[in-house]
Amino acid sequence: MTELSMDDEFKTLRKFDAGKGREAFFYSLPALEEKGIGEMSRLPVSIRIVLESVLRNCDGQKVRPKDVESLANWNAKAPANEEIPFVVARIVLQDFTGVPLVVDLAAMRSAVKRLGRDPKIIEPLVPVDLVVDHSVQVDFFGSIRALELNLDMEFKRNRERYQFLKWGQQAFKTFQLIPPGIGIVHQVNLEYLAKGVLSAQVTINNQPSTVYFPDTLVGTDSHTTMINGLGVVGWGVGGIEAEAGMLGQPVYFLTPEVVGVHMSGQLREGVTATDLVLHITQLLRGQKVVGKFVEFYGEGAASLPVPDRATIGNMSPEYGATMGYFPIDQESVAYLRATGRSEEQCLAFENYFRAQKMFGMPLKGEIDYSVDIDLDLAEVQPSVAGPKRPQDRINLPDLGKTFRALLEKPVRDGGYGKQNVDLREKHLVELNGSAPRNGEMASTDKKEDQGINPGDELNKIEMVSNRPTPDSGKEIEAESSDVFTHGRTHVGHGSVLIAAITSCTNTSNPSVMIAAGLLAKKAVERGLRVDPGVKTSLAPGSRVVSDYLHKTGLQKYLDQLGFNLVGYGCTTCIGNSGPLHPNIEKTIHKYDLVAASVLSGNRNFEARVHQHIKANFLMSPPLVVAFALAGRVHINLSREPLGKDKDGNETFLRDLWPSLSEIRDAMQTALSPETFRKLYRDFADQNPKWNDIPSSAGDIYQWEEKSDYIHEPPFFKDFSMEPGHIEEIRGARALGIFGDSVTTDHISPAGAIKETSPAGKYLKSRGIEPRDFNSYGSRRGNDLVMTRGTFANVRINNLMVPGTEGGVTKYFANGEGEEMSIFDAAMKYAETNTPLVILAGHEYGTGSSRDWAAKGTRLLGVKAVVAASFERIHRSNLVGMGVLPLQFPDGTTAQSLGLDGSEIFSIVGLSETIKPGQTVTLGIEGKDRQKRSVPVKVRIDTPIEIDYYRHGGILPFVLRQLLLK
Ligand code: SF4
Repeated sequence: MTELSMDDEFKTLRKFDAGKGREAFFYSLPALEEKGIGEMSRLPVSIRIVLESVLRNCDGQKVRPKDVESLANWNAKAPANEEIPFVVARIVLQDFTGVPLVVDLAAMRSAVKRLGRDPKIIEPLVPVDLVVDHSVQVDFFGSIRALELNLDMEFKRNRERYQFLKWGQQAFKTFQLIPPGIGIVHQVNLEYLAKGVLSAQVTINNQPSTVYFPDTLVGTDSHTTMINGLGVVGWGVGGIEAEAGMLGQPVYFLTPEVVGVHMSGQLREGVTATDLVLHITQLLRGQKVVGKFVEFYGEGAASLPVPDRATIGNMSPEYGATMGYFPIDQESVAYLRATGRSEEQCLAFENYFRAQKMFGMPLKGEIDYSVDIDLDLAEVQPSVAGPKRPQDRINLPDLGKTFRALLEKPVRDGGYGKQNVDLREKHLVELNGSAPRNGEMASTDKKEDQGINPGDELNKIEMVSNRPTPDSGKEIEAESSDVFTHGRTHVGHGSVLIAAITSCTNTSNPSVMIAAGLLAKKAVERGLRVDPGVKTSLAPGSRVVSDYLHKTGLQKYLDQLGFNLVGYGCTTCIGNSGPLHPNIEKTIHKYDLVAASVLSGNRNFEARVHQHIKANFLMSPPLVVAFALAGRVHINLSREPLGKDKDGNETFLRDLWPSLSEIRDAMQTALSPETFRKLYRDFADQNPKWNDIPSSAGDIYQWEEKSDYIHEPPFFKDFSMEPGHIEEIRGARALGIFGDSVTTDHISPAGAIKETSPAGKYLKSRGIEPRDFNSYGSRRGNDLVMTRGTFANVRINNLMVPGTEGGVTKYFANGEGEEMSIFDAAMKYAETNTPLVILAGHEYGTGSSRDWAAKGTRLLGVKAVVAASFERIHRSNLVGMGVLPLQFPDGTTAQSLGLDGSEIFSIVGLSETIKPGQTVTLGIEGKDRQKRSVPVKVRIDTPIEIDYYRHGGILPFVLRQLLLK
């Protein structure tokens, strides 16, 4: 429970019974309606929950009365074109995006200390939970020791980051850290962190009182929407927005349309929640729900248990919606009880939403939605999706023929462009032997080429254990020193080489996990085996899954098929699938094979799952096991056998598929609230590796010169209480001119660091070998690496240097322009205090929201980005970092103006009195001294953003506010 000071601008505070005789207050939406403001019962439930936050936080400054009135009068068919200031109740982070946020908080504390003030004034104002789940990789698998060995590797690779996070854990009161090896952020959120309603101690009429409000959040991971399945409003945001939310600032978003999906009927026998979410993804992708809320309702929605709803909520980013929301009903309360939440919590949750008249699944016609869509659950078919996009659903029996067709389809039409393929043709791969040095490919032909570097743990893979080789039938023992497998396999187009039960999307759903276990049991009992060429893995999103798989006795069957536990983390879902056997990689390369992965994840863009696997199919966990057994994707599982049993009889999917009643029986015996309580109690103490990590103590982080993962960013260098002035920019040079659709990954790549790039050279200068560079993603706590990595994506095209790729530009201070890296040019311009601009086309900053895309831009010295249009979050992140976004008039671009980067730019008309959306002038002086001017729109969209810009960004703005208190 937190302590808050409350305003009651609209006089809507009312009492309710929070259960067990506890009288408490809430901001009543029905009371708002009684005052003639809005018609609550017709509003989508998701809008009502956001409205409650706007009403409760209305203080006349951050949230104005007109914000309340505008949202209360939400017009389904024509939502107001206004930004909603949404103050969320809590924040969730994962470790990739969380580390730089904690670095910023630590840097703010250091700045406050330098000013002679108490650093503890820097404290998240809302609870923050960081779950370390993104770093574990599947290096070891198919062994009972895989979990332990992968965890060892994870701790070795990430020690510095983890040391830092441990400091953060003890330094901030409102910051809770869930260490590695516990679970995946969204599953942990669903099973443990989410409370449904939260409460705060307040003083009302001079009496200490309790006020309840809905649990709402934003998270720095796009699948934060999984929590929508529990009736909690929340979605993924960029780091800078999350940081603002942490420090009590609203998260701003445009008033959305809400698409109502009316669900009727029930899922048929044999159809899983995964099939349903793939169906919905395809359906809604076709309906263009980008930027909209989706709300599921109707008797079909009421029939779905919360884990099924959560699976559907999880994949909102894949169907494009901001949220995929399910209103609160009896199922929501039942889930809270079943997962060990206290009786007080469950009662408060139910009673609160009843008092708000928001309890129960809405039926058709009760709510006004912007768009109405009908979905009959009985129509959903067993499916997979792929091979490149989650929305490309394929009915299960059609997979074989679809794959064959895609194989021969031209590349330009989305196929693989292979001619005259004989799918029976396979290539023998010997799996004996050991790892090559430094990741180079081992040779299938020359065994003497296969060297091993015993010290290089990164190259070790333990391939199979306890899994008989198909030809010998012998058990293979797992040895951590025994690198790679024994045996042989045959690989061709469509061979399944990765079979991963992965991703919180599905591992949070006991019905599909138990179905996978039951299918494995039947397969083992019939004597079926998985080919040793398939890299099998099981990475659940919490230890509860292991508990019920053990209680039901199903884990041992999964183990026998190679689906041993590899870790509690994102693994294959985030692309941490680890290397394949080098001989397999070599064979794929040599014959240019279109090999396949099958996974229960949510994204399958090329190279996301594994760089050597071109066809990636999303599917339910039991289907992952089935395809691992079949070993290929060019198969019709409704007609063709997936293997032969021990007596040589053909075995079909229907022989192995568990019935609904088998699944239900197993679930009933295995799931108990006490298990959840036990496993989430004292999780920190249950992790000796984490406890062994030494960590510094104290309120201030002792920045270490020797660290190349954590470095104090310069955002608060020379910080003073005086905000800057908004003034014209003169004498600026172009650092880059880009075309359309430059993504945040172009601007700030997350992947590998090239040896010859500025970041690579820097790391080498620090004595770091290229094999230890790790990725940009893992070095987001170090501005020195990230700034050098900005605009360093190998695929970015700077039109100032036509025909080149990568972060190259021309430095124009002297003569004709000298070609050099963007980072080097920026540093040279900094020597002369030359301001910089970026010029770009449409949709600048699309793709994943990535805070370093804005932070790196700022640290390179870019003062303004002039684009034809901006992606929403990146635009706000630029303002959040004090970089001015300017928009060309329609039809104007750098190309239409004939700019080549040799010009000198000015931005005229900027002043202290600037207004959101105002037009200013972009002055352009060519080499020939000719001057031109173009009107450009200031894309600072709200009054608060003017403040952010004046202060040099959100962080200095908030810091000054805190120091003034
Ligand atoms: S498992 Fe996948 S969806 Fe879930 S948090 Fe990890 S990366 Fe995101």
